[in-house]
Amino acid sequence: MKIWKHFKTITNHKMLVMKGCFRLGLYRQGLLHDMSKYSPTEFIPGCKYYKGYMSPNNAERDDKGYSSAWLHHKGRNKHHLEYWIDYTGGDGKGEKAMGGMKMPIRYVVEMFVDRVCASKNYQKEKYTDASAYIYYENGKNYLILHPDTRALLEYLLVMLKEKGEEKTFSYIKQEVIKEKVPYEKTKLDELKNALHVPM
Ligand SMILES: [Zn+2]
Repeated sequence: MKIWKHFKTITNHKMLVMKGCFRLGLYRQGLLHDMSKYSPTEFIPGCKYYKGYMSPNNAERDDKGYSSAWLHHKGRNKHHLEYWIDYTGGDGKGEKAMGGMKMPIRYVVEMFVDRVCASKNYQKEKYTDASAYIYYENGKNYLILHPDTRALLEYLLVMLKEKGEEKTFSYIKQEVIKEKVPYEKTKLDELKNALHVPM
């Protein structure tokens, strides 16, 4: 049982995400981020399957065939896209299947901060503004996301890569959270593509 090491890992990450959320004025989310990791259901498997080089959830999954800690976690933390997977076609149109619901903007932003902080943690001195984007690109085909939510996340990741952290965070605070940016795939894709054009 690696109690202390696991505690340090989750607390370091939580502190980093808190700083990022506070920068954006998301104080409540900054304080509550990943709080359920300290509950026994998540904390005990976290210590038991602590590896240091991989997530304990993956180690638990390899061992048991499922991760009880992760199933508990994703059901309680709204910044995870898995929280928002539910039946589509609720409007009576379209077929019933499992799919991503349209996430509220503030949780898409928290997911973005989470991804940036996780990239910093894993990459250490190799981290660049492109790291979170590259990580997303490698895994994006497995993610179940609402098209508008996917477009917003991609827009923020591309902006970070192209414009850097300072500009991206102030844009999120001043424009995205204040709902001045249309939360709609077609428009977000246009905005994203315009980022590649040198100004
Ligand atoms: Zn989390």
